[in-house]
Amino acid sequence: MKNQLIKAWKEQNIITNKKVLEAFKQVNREDFVRPSQRSGAYIDHPLPIGYGQTISQPTTVMIMTQALDPKKGDNILEIGTGSGYQAALIAKIIDPGKITTTEILPELATIAKNNLKKVGIINAEVIVTDGSCGYKQNSLYDKIIITAASPKIPKPLTDQLKEGGTIIAPVGDRGTQRMIKAIKIKGKLKEQDLGLFVFVPLKGKHGY
Ligand code: SAH
Repeated sequence: MKNQLIKAWKEQNIITNKKVLEAFKQVNREDFVRPSQRSGAYIDHPLPIGYGQTISQPTTVMIMTQALDPKKGDNILEIGTGSGYQAALIAKIIDPGKITTTEILPELATIAKNNLKKVGIINAEVIVTDGSCGYKQNSLYDKIIITAASPKIPKPLTDQLKEGGTIIAPVGDRGTQRMIKAIKIKGKLKEQDLGLFVFVPLKGKHGY
């Protein structure tokens, strides 16, 4: 199943970044889904992770990872830890760089911490906080990824991003969003639209 996904992505030119594909091979999605969902871990579908939240479908996770273009040594911020799967993929690619991943629900943060520990990832720090305000302590960031639907890109995140840095975020209303790739140029975000997606909503100060 895992290899079929990789084959389809390559054939359709959806995922071409070798480091991103390598990370997908190394990190097992079944380690991040609920035990009862393990057998369906490589169906290209989002899955419930509890508390009304979901782990995104593999293709979406990969499109976002590729758009973020993580590099060895990067300092990265994620908003929406969920299961920790997206953070694990990024952590693999940037090692020995570091990803700070923020989760507003303490219960999910605990699950994610355990999942990351189980697979031996040590360069991902899970922080329980309202990530819509970013996490200033570990800034500035080379790249920022929001894995929840956002009404707009929160201003504190732009402030905590390095000049020339990238933000990937699904932006729109609660129903559907456009995946935005934004680059910070002279303090302002220059945006590119990567298509239509559907995410669970961002909560907190700069959420809905
Ligand atoms: N990246 C995750 C999936 C994210 S689902 C994975 O790989 O599994 C979106 C997550 O964002 C949910 O866990 C939700 O609780 C969290 N979230 C929503 N609003 C948030 C906020 N303001 N700060 C941090 N996390 C938030």
